[in-house]
Amino acid sequence: MWQPEIETMPRESIRALQEERFLRTWNHIWDRAPAQRGLLQAAGIGRGDVKSLSDIVKLPFTDKKAFADNYPFGLFAVPQEEVIRLHGTSGTTGKPAMGGYTAGDMAVWKDLIARVCAAAGVTKRDLAQVSFGYGLFTGGFGLHQGLEHMGVCVLPMSAGQTEKQLMMMRDMGATVLVSTPSYALYLSEAVREHGIKDQLKLRVGLFGGEGHTPEMAAQIEENLGITATSNYGLCELTGPGVSGECLFREGMHIAEDHFYTEIIDPETGAVLPEGETGELVVTPLTREALPLIRYRTKDITRVTYERCRCGRTHVRMDPTLGRSDDMLIIRGVNVFPSQIESVLIRQEHIGPHYLLVVRREGVTDTLEVQVELIDGSVLESFGMLEKIKHTIQSRIKDILGLTVKVTLVAPQTIERFMGKARRVKDER
Ligand code: ZN
Repeated sequence: MWQPEIETMPRESIRALQEERFLRTWNHIWDRAPAQRGLLQAAGIGRGDVKSLSDIVKLPFTDKKAFADNYPFGLFAVPQEEVIRLHGTSGTTGKPAMGGYTAGDMAVWKDLIARVCAAAGVTKRDLAQVSFGYGLFTGGFGLHQGLEHMGVCVLPMSAGQTEKQLMMMRDMGATVLVSTPSYALYLSEAVREHGIKDQLKLRVGLFGGEGHTPEMAAQIEENLGITATSNYGLCELTGPGVSGECLFREGMHIAEDHFYTEIIDPETGAVLPEGETGELVVTPLTREALPLIRYRTKDITRVTYERCRCGRTHVRMDPTLGRSDDMLIIRGVNVFPSQIESVLIRQEHIGPHYLLVVRREGVTDTLEVQVELIDGSVLESFGMLEKIKHTIQSRIKDILGLTVKVTLVAPQTIERFMGKARRVKDER
């Protein structure tokens, strides 16, 4: 463990620490973040309305719109000369949500990342290949500085140039791979095609930046011969380091000394009891540049406070089922791409790459699942094609109660992604 005295703290001590830090954050916002103070006042909240952490449920949520309305630095609680780093979200349209860091925020962030890496079994004897993009995205620089802080040797490859990635992975003897799960899958397929798995020393994968199913992780593990671990974070909340899996892989431990979390019903905003699935809401407790109250992550998950076998006492969250933004509503049914992925990845003869196309035909919404065959020769066997299509269709129907169209396409025809995958095309 990186910080055992904090990571195994008794629950009452965690709560007491959270309360003290929350009240400090509350005063920091009233003293130094005018735009956030304005949002609270507009919701009829005064400084005196909060006396303890349990008062948090009375407070309004902060969402992505607050970032857009106050772009770029309006939500910050320090003047720009105290900010030493900026990162931004990777939204494909519009302006990014900007995150800022003081020197103190940077020091905390490095520790948070080191904690995630240590929980995944990384030690300073490792050599980590960082195949996250370096840039505005928090993944590349975030993992880089956290690994270095631990004393791990870092190979900053960034994303892209697959052949070079493989060459360096082999020649440098990388033992840890850091990337998005979709890029790890892509690299792992290239490793399989080149037949070089035995020449690699990889043993651990640190995957984040997007969610993935256990089935996809299993495929990456098989192709690379590694243990795949997940970690989680958002630029608005610092970046990676909010939570990460230990080697028992029964949920990602949230760094509760720095983040207070709630699960809410995304429709009503009501706080849900432990164990129910809903949207994750996070209040950072130690941010200097960008404190926030009850930030709606849009990520759908579930938490458990049960003590983990690893000895850590911090709450665990399930890998995210998907973002509420990615949720498709097809003929009244809620569909997460991850649910379809879990069906596809278990099916023989097809690869892990897929595209979901949503259309409106007349007044009806239709969902087409395009998926790649591993072996193109299957396209010549009508009976085989029909059989595969039928199996996929009936499994999806079992899970979602929805009939979808399945189209099998030739190998290597669906777009690959170096960063976060885009698997939905909504033509409605
Ligand atoms: Zn654990």
